[in-house]
Amino acid sequence: MAHCVVEEAEKILDKEYPVLNKGFVRLVDYMGGDERVVQAARVSYGKGTKSYREDSALIDYLLRHEHTSPFEQVSLTFHIKLPIFVARQWIRHRTAKVNEISGRYSIMKDDFYEPELEDIALQSSDNRQGRSEEALDKGLAEETRDAIRAGQQKVYAEYKELIDKGIARELARINLPLSLYSEWYWQIDLHNLFHFLKLRLDSHAQKEIRLYAQVLFDISKKVAPLCCASFERWVLGAITFSNEEVEEIKRRLAANDANNANNSIGANDASTKSILSDKALERLEEKLRSGKQL
Ligand SMILES: Cc1cc2nc3c(=O)[nH]c(=O)nc-3n(C[C@H](O)[C@H](O)[C@H](O)COP(=O)(O)OP(=O)(O)OC[C@H]3O[C@@H](n4cnc5c(N)ncnc54)[C@H](O)[C@@H]3O)c2cc1C
Repeated sequence: MAHCVVEEAEKILDKEYPVLNKGFVRLVDYMGGDERVVQAARVSYGKGTKSYREDSALIDYLLRHEHTSPFEQVSLTFHIKLPIFVARQWIRHRTAKVNEISGRYSIMKDDFYEPELEDIALQSSDNRQGRSEEALDKGLAEETRDAIRAGQQKVYAEYKELIDKGIARELARINLPLSLYSEWYWQIDLHNLFHFLKLRLDSHAQKEIRLYAQVLFDISKKVAPLCCASFERWVLGAITFSNEEVEEIKRRLAANDANNANNSIGANDASTKSILSDKALERLEEKLRSGKQL
């Protein structure tokens, strides 16, 4: 069971997937794929891959039961160009191996993130970490974009001036903004990539990092399609319930069964009163209706 070659992944090696105005993601290399996960899981009793259906069922079982180590046998290396504010959020994921361009060695390029006009929004009134979903007045959006652009140009001109005077690159760069693009090589195993994707594809994550996460996921589907399908089924598309919520669901099913049996006890019967507060009940119902983690 030597090196796994995944045809679909081979086709996209080195292909540049654009993200934001100047960023990109490239798959530099990969090690393993669905087949490696299956081999690793079956090593304990000396059997390799079986039929596609059996392999797919095994991967699904492993993912559903959080048998995570076989997924760690697959590894992906990406070359990523990203604004520094995105990199600040990204680097909090400690389980990857990273090599970043150094502003001490290199002259930083005049590459800045500039949001699209439709992405410029007011501060959200109900989410302290996010932006409002309401469309912003076009004039104010343009004014904001122009102010961001002018600030970037001014600071970059000052940076270049210091460089031209021979000031050390490690000092000349210290006023450069978070919107400046950086680049890194990022290597991570599939289990930890899934953890990253779970957090960074979520609607609570900032839009800019979500766009990168989506591209990483699309690329990962080429490397390990069965693993990604199981991840989508059991993690991305799943919601969790507290033990009180599970009790409430059981209570309603029991009341429903009783209703069907003798048409006498209903969900609101006093003997089977919910342990959830009205607010918690509302949240549970909304969770079930929307299929979203609230
Ligand atoms: C929407 C969103 C908002 C956020 N807001 C903030 C914020 O306001 N401020 C802020 O500071 N951060 C914020 N974060 C970052 C967040 O707190 C985590 O640091 C980040 O998501 C990385 O998660 P992680 O530690 O699980 O991942 P990883 O670092 O990839 O670790 C994966 C898992 O490995 C284990 N692990 C890794 N390293 C260690 C270690 N040294 N010791 C013990 N266990 C370890 C942990 O179980 C961890 O869950 C935010 C993240 C998200 C997604």
